[in-house]
Amino acid sequence: MDKVLIVTGGSRGIGAAVARGAAAPGWTVVLSYRTRAERAEAVVRDITTAGGHAVAVQADVAREDDVARLFDTAARHGRIAGLVNNAGINGDPVRMADLAPADFSAMFATNVTGVFLCAAEAVRRMSTARGGAGGAIVNIGSVAVRLGAAGERVHYAASKAAVVAMTHGLALEVAREGIRVNCVSPGLFATEMNPPERVARLTPAIPIGRVGAPDELANVVLFLLSDAASYVLGAEVTVSGGR
Ligand code: NDP
Repeated sequence: MDKVLIVTGGSRGIGAAVARGAAAPGWTVVLSYRTRAERAEAVVRDITTAGGHAVAVQADVAREDDVARLFDTAARHGRIAGLVNNAGINGDPVRMADLAPADFSAMFATNVTGVFLCAAEAVRRMSTARGGAGGAIVNIGSVAVRLGAAGERVHYAASKAAVVAMTHGLALEVAREGIRVNCVSPGLFATEMNPPERVARLTPAIPIGRVGAPDELANVVLFLLSDAASYVLGAEVTVSGGR
């Protein structure tokens, strides 16, 4: 039976790089997106043209029914053995004192509730204690947890702190159930999340002297998903060019 990897937010950016990279070593990739169907289908086309297997599913990670449908669809393509909790938003820059409560809630709905819903569903299907065959979960955090994102996105940093905390705790909960849970925390990457002026402003502070390419993040995610990382769990791997 095919090993299925679910990549949330696989329509572009880091998630698309993970999806493309996972198809080569043999994962059947089920990538989700929220609104950009054509971008998701383009990633699927790239993978299938290269001889891999992929399917795109519209699913808002913040919605319980969407997440259930995403996993049900994935299960029809093989055994769900991997999950990358990548879908995320960073919102418009705003100081915390001026942040609308609705925008705070929207940030946490996608970045935190989404990770919870997908991770919980994955554990229910993968756990050897529940009849599953094990698997690996990789959550995407951020160096913002450490840096604070003052003046623009403290709520984003806080949402990613929750992701890192869930990684550590869940990893211990399921360590003996055949599931490894880890987290990768990116620095600044060249995706649509970062407009060019933000990249230009922040790049001088990156020790390696440049912004990261999505593939450079995907490589680490793919390692953590692989058997080569069989003794790695509860880890937060920073991929930031030293930032
Ligand atoms: P992008 O903005 O390029 O892509 C975001 C992806 O998430 C898209 O596929 C989007 O779908 C999807 N998405 C957003 N909200 C939802 C939702 N509610 N349900 C389902 N899918 C959703 O982001 P990046 O690739 O830059 O970031 C990926 C992850 O890495 C995020 O968690 C981000 O916080 C994190 N990160 C990124 C950094 C960077 O510098 N880029 C730095 C630190 C962390 P659609 O295309 O349909 O909108």
